[in-house]
Order: sequence, then C-alpha cells, then structure tokens
Amino acid sequence: MTSSEWIVIEGGLFLLGSIWGSFLGVLVDRIPKEESIFLPRSHCNSCGHTLGALDLVPFKVWIFNRGHCVYCAAPIDPQTIISEFCTALLFSATPLLFPDIKRILFLLAFFSFALPLSLIDLRSHRLPHKLTWSAGLMGLALTWTTLEPSQSHIGGLLPSVLGFLTGFLPLWLLATFYPQGMGMGDAFWLGAIGTFVGPVGTLQTLLLSSFSATITSVLALLLFDQKQNNGSWRTLKIPFGPFLSAAGIIVVLYQQDLNRWGGIISQSLLG
Ligand SMILES: [Zn+2]
Repeated sequence: MTSSEWIVIEGGLFLLGSIWGSFLGVLVDRIPKEESIFLPRSHCNSCGHTLGALDLVPFKVWIFNRGHCVYCAAPIDPQTIISEFCTALLFSATPLLFPDIKRILFLLAFFSFALPLSLIDLRSHRLPHKLTWSAGLMGLALTWTTLEPSQSHIGGLLPSVLGFLTGFLPLWLLATFYPQGMGMGDAFWLGAIGTFVGPVGTLQTLLLSSFSATITSVLALLLFDQKQNNGSWRTLKIPFGPFLSAAGIIVVLYQQDLNRWGGIISQSLLG
C-alpha cells in the first residue's frame, strides 16, 4: 500500500469513527431522558434550533465555534467531543494494532455500548437497561454469526450464555442484599460483557475492574476535600460502570494473553 492510499484509508476511518461517535453522543443525551434516538432531529439543547447537515460535521463546532451553539452561543456539552474523538481514534487505530477482523468487530461493537454506558453512569449514576440488554443481545448475536463452521450452534453459544450468568448472578445477589453498594445496572452490564468474553473473561473483567475501582476510590479519598465529603467515605460515590467498561475493553482485546499469563501464574503457584 502506498503512503497516500494509507492516508486516505486512515482519514476515512477517522471520519467514519467521528460520525459514529456523534451518534453515540446522541445516545448519551437521549436514552436517560427516555427520548427516541432517531426523532426529533438533532437540535441545540438550549435554544431548540434544529441542526442542519453542516452543523453536524464532527469537530466543526469545536474548531470554528469553540464549543458553542452557532445559533444561541450556549456552551455545548463536552460529551459530544469526547465521544466523537474517542470513537474516531478507535476506528483509525484498531486495524493497525489488530489485524484480526473478528477481534476488531467484537471491539467496535463492545465499545459502542461501553462508551455511552460509561458516560451516562459518570453523569447520572445509572446504567439504563435499554443499553445493557441491547449489549447482551449484541454479544450473543456476534458470537452466533462468527461461529467457526466446525462449531455447533448450541455448543458455540454456550460460552456466551455462561458468561452472562457468571457476570449477572454475583452482582445481582450483591445488588439485592446491598443495594447501596451495587445497582442492578452493574449486574446487567457485567452479564452483557460476559456474552462477549465468556465466563473466564467475565471473571478477568470483574478482577480488573474491582482492582482499578479500589485504587481509584482510595486515591479519591486521599485527595478529596474531607469537609465537603463530611469526612466520610460512605458519601463518596464513584460509579462502577466505567471500570467495568474499561476492564471489558482490555479483556476483549487481550483475552488470549490474559489466559496465558493466568495459566503461568496458577502453574507457578501450584508448583
Ligand atoms: Zn442553541
């Protein structure tokens, strides 16, 4: 491939990613409000002006209007540029890093749920069932459509179903008996992650997310203003969804390596 062909392909993927990221930003805005994700057309949340095709060009409003509405100059939610930029980066980088088409497909599909769920959870401490259930169905559907010809449908789907149960059941128990600490949204989200990564991948996700959430909570506790927080760690609320999402992305990408390291560690522990 010549360097100009390479630039065209990478630029195209970046643009495609930013358009998809713009749609994911719409999900973040509308799903918590129970609004339709297709109608009405995109509009300014301050003045209600319907946005034209040119207004929807990714990054335009950030480059030319410094993140303000063209019509009323109200500041635009930074979530739009976060989702546009992260998705554009992901679309353009993954084909370079991972030549395996099945892994790219799984990653792009998983990310398309992980990003909006994380942004919604950070903002409103919720993981809407509409998104987590759709993610679970997507995980099952992708596993189903990418089965090897030698695999039976039932045998091939079993890891996905077991992955769901491995993720859902423990957090569901926790959410039932300790609702202050864990929500049903977390249980459905880890279950949905399980449909992508299977039972072992689900345990790896739970381990990685618990570890990173604990470290973040301790750091936040040390850095957080004790007076504002009434000096109590119980009032400090850090949503768990973004940690599950980040850990899920690592497992979708590096599951084979994690399995290998897990094997080496358990062998050395068992002597
Ligand atoms: Zn406006």
